[in-house]
Amino acid sequence: MAEDDSTTESPEKQNLDDHAFAALGLSHKVVRAVAKSGYENPTNIQSQAIPVVLEGRDVIGSSQTGTGKTAAFALPVISNLKAHGKLRCLVLEPTRELADQVTNAFRTYSKFTNLKTALIQGGVGYGRQIEMLNKGVDVVVATPGRLLDLHKQKNISFKDIEVVVLDEVDRMLDMGFLPDVKRIVKLTPRKRQTLFFSATIPSEIEYLAQWSLTNPFTVDVGQRRSAAETVNHCLYPVAREQKMELLLRLLNDMDYQSVLIFTERKLDAEVVARKLELNNHEAVTLHSDRSQRERKKALDGFKNGDFEILIATDVAGRGLDISGISHVVNYDVPRNAENYVHRIGRTGRANTEGDAITLFAADEMDQVKGIEGYIEQEIERVTIENFEYAFTTLLQKQEIARPVRRGRNRGYVPANTMPFNMKGRRR
Ligand code: AMP
Repeated sequence: MAEDDSTTESPEKQNLDDHAFAALGLSHKVVRAVAKSGYENPTNIQSQAIPVVLEGRDVIGSSQTGTGKTAAFALPVISNLKAHGKLRCLVLEPTRELADQVTNAFRTYSKFTNLKTALIQGGVGYGRQIEMLNKGVDVVVATPGRLLDLHKQKNISFKDIEVVVLDEVDRMLDMGFLPDVKRIVKLTPRKRQTLFFSATIPSEIEYLAQWSLTNPFTVDVGQRRSAAETVNHCLYPVAREQKMELLLRLLNDMDYQSVLIFTERKLDAEVVARKLELNNHEAVTLHSDRSQRERKKALDGFKNGDFEILIATDVAGRGLDISGISHVVNYDVPRNAENYVHRIGRTGRANTEGDAITLFAADEMDQVKGIEGYIEQEIERVTIENFEYAFTTLLQKQEIARPVRRGRNRGYVPANTMPFNMKGRRR
């Protein structure tokens, strides 16, 4: 139930008028929800985008998740929609997990209004989704395939759409969704507001942006490579056959609360999970071979602390909004340099420091070079003490004795140092 929001003289109202989000022009009900969420100050993308979205302008933003992007579009959209009516806002997301998270964000930020948000995603039955649509909703957050199915079956109409949000467009491109996205946008009224977000803007996306946006305001908060700058991240050279052993040792040395481990392949995610379980670690996996129910159970279990370790592949792990991840471990070096930045960006969210570790075998040298080129930074190599390293060319003297530049600090540290103190932080 929405609470009564009408008392203008209450101390709470007074405080909300002074709230940093009120100054951006958001409605009182939205500011109240923001305050309730515990946000004190807008993030960079929020202070840039919110006033422009409130004005009704199109926006193109090159900011990735973890920067407060969802609130940057959801808060002004909710503020403009005001009260329950027709379906007026469509948000497209590349994955079910992201659609779920963004739906929750819309529901949280609109809790003091009577606006309704429906989640439309594949992998689950049609019944409840059709029921919700029939009851009437203001916002639909959807993955493209299921949304088109429902439209074909005439269960949803886009004729009153006023705002279209295309979120994580580069991910939609990776997943082959761009034709569906274009089809959906074509079905919405020409006169609409379009908000377009993509961590990177390759040429295919630039084309879609030009086609779908009108005189957009560009929000570029320079976050594309930010995780590489804000997160403590380092490489652990090791012989391939010792990766598991080193992982177990690192987990023992760390004082971790929640660890997100990435593997390139689904099968490896399962193998690593089984081995961790055999060594008394609570681990769950998240990848596309698992059913929607299993994925939700894994994610919820990880979020509420039932499992300390979540092992995910890139598709499943991208954009997950899980606060408090203390460490990210790349069991494999990602083949795609951009994925490296996305993976390590899962920690160090909301300006907290995070540690990201990459286990690195000799046959992954090309990937490492690719990543270092992409982030324009040499990543520190770290070995640990009292570990019986098997021979690998990576650990030959000239490799590890080479002084390396540490992030932005420009300090030179020998590679052969203990990476963690008892609190799990690098020294
Ligand atoms: P996003 O980039 O939308 O995935 O948001 C990342 C995380 O930051 C989410 O957990 C949000 O709840 C949180 N967040 C968003 N805006 C703020 C803010 N202004 N202050 C503090 N946390 C925020």
